[in-house]
Amino acid sequence: MQVASMHFKERAHEKLNDEVLQGNLVKIKGKFVAKRRESILELDDFEGTRDAGKAIRQRALDDLDVWLELFERSATERGATVLFAQTPAEINKLVLDIAARHGVRKIIKSKSMVSEESALDHAIESAGLTVVETDLGEYILQINDYEPPSHIIGPALHKSKEEVAELFHRKHGTPKKDGIEELCLEARGILREHYLTADMGISGGNFFVAETGSVVLVTNEGNATLTTTLPKVHVAISGIEKIVPTLEDVATLMRLLPRSATGQSISNYVDLLTGPKGDGEFHGVDHMYFIIVDSGRSEVLGSDVREALRCIRCGACMNHCPVYQNVGGHSYGWVYPGPIGSILTPMYVGLENALDLPQASTMCNQCGVVCPVRIPLPDLQRKLREREFAEDLRPWYERTGLRLWAWVAQRPALYAFAAKLGVRFLRTMAGSDGMIRKLPIGAGWTMGRDMPAPEGRTFRELYAQRKAGGGGGRA
Ligand code: SF4
Repeated sequence: MQVASMHFKERAHEKLNDEVLQGNLVKIKGKFVAKRRESILELDDFEGTRDAGKAIRQRALDDLDVWLELFERSATERGATVLFAQTPAEINKLVLDIAARHGVRKIIKSKSMVSEESALDHAIESAGLTVVETDLGEYILQINDYEPPSHIIGPALHKSKEEVAELFHRKHGTPKKDGIEELCLEARGILREHYLTADMGISGGNFFVAETGSVVLVTNEGNATLTTTLPKVHVAISGIEKIVPTLEDVATLMRLLPRSATGQSISNYVDLLTGPKGDGEFHGVDHMYFIIVDSGRSEVLGSDVREALRCIRCGACMNHCPVYQNVGGHSYGWVYPGPIGSILTPMYVGLENALDLPQASTMCNQCGVVCPVRIPLPDLQRKLREREFAEDLRPWYERTGLRLWAWVAQRPALYAFAAKLGVRFLRTMAGSDGMIRKLPIGAGWTMGRDMPAPEGRTFRELYAQRKAGGGGGRA
C-alpha cells in the first residue's frame, strides 16, 4: 500500500515552517478545545457517561461476531442488502458492482473516512462515473485536485477563508467572495444541482445498530440527509468496529460524540436510516446497501492495541494534542491523523510503513484525558514503540542507544556516575544565560528552540540528603 506516513518527520518540518497553516492551526485550538470544555459541563456526570460509553464500545468489540450477525439479520429483514469487504480493493469493487446493477452514472457522497482508505473517488472516476463530495470540507478538497483531509471531523480545517475564496473563484469561475456565508451559499447552489441529478448516494456510518439494522449519521450540514434520501440507491460504508448493540447505546454515545467533537450538545442533523422505503411510502431510497469493511480491523482486534477500535471518531484527541496542534494532519501521511492515527495507521498499513507515527507523541496524555471512550492512547503508542524495538525496526543507533541505556540503568552505581557526567557535560554546553543553543548529538532538541541546562542538584543528591534527614530544599 502506498502511504506517505514513512515521511512524518520531513512533513512535520515542512508544516512547522508553513505560516498560513500555523495560523489556521491556532484557530482550531481556540474553536474546539474551549467549546468542548464548556459543553461537557452541561452533563451532571460527564465522567460517568464516559464510563458508560467505554463499556458500550467494549461490549460491542468483545462479541463483535454476534453483533455483526444480528446486524446482518436485522438489516436484511428490513429490505437492505449487507455486504462485507475484506480489503480496500473489495470496497471499490462492491460499489462499482452496485452502480452497474442500477445503471448509475452520477454518485454523490457524504463524508466517509473508510472510503478514503480505499481511494474510492478515484476508483469511481476511473470507471467513467461522476462522483461529487457533498460535505463542504470534502468538496473543497475534491475540487482542489483531491487534496487529502487533515482532520477527522473538519477535513479542510487547514485551509483559510481566503484560500477557499481563491479556490472557488478559480474552479467555479465566479467573482471572488469575501465572507464565509457567501462562500457557503455558492457551494450550496452548486451541490443542490448534484443532489437532484444523482443516481446513487454514498455515506459513511457513525454507528451501525445491531438490533434494528440501521445506520446513524451525524452531521452539521444536512448533506448526509440529502445524499441518503434523494437518489434511488443508498450505500452506507463503515468498518466492522462501528457496530453498537442497541438504539439506547446510540443515545448514550450521542451525549459524548458532538460534545467531544465540536462542543455542541447535539449535532444539527442526526439521521437514523433503516432499510429502503416500503410500499406506499413517499420518502426514502428504492435500494439500500451496507458495506461492512474489515481491511485490517480483525488484526487490530486480535492485537494488544485492540482498544483503539473503541474510537468514535470525535477528533478530540487531535484537537488537544500538542504535536497535532503544531504540525497539522497532513504530516501523518494517511487517512487518520493525530494520536488515534498514530495507532491505526501503523496497524492498517503496516508498522514498517509508518515507523515514526508511534513516536509522534510527547506522551503528555492530553489525548487519553479527553477521549470520550477512554482509549489509553499513550499506552497504545508505547506498545507500538516496544514492538518497533523488538522487531528491530528502529535505526541501529537508536536500538544501540536504548540497549546501552538499559544496561547502564540496571547498574545503579554506574547509572549515578553516568548521570553526574551527563549533567556536567550539559552545563558546559550552556551559554552565560544558562541556555544550550546546540547539542552535538540529539540536535533535534535544539533545532527549534534553546534548551535550558540542568540546574541545581540531581534527584539522587536530593533524595540522599532527604534520607539523611537534611530536608530537600530547593533543587
Ligand atoms: S481516539 Fe478517542 S478522542 Fe480520538 S477520535 Fe477516537 S474517540 Fe475521539
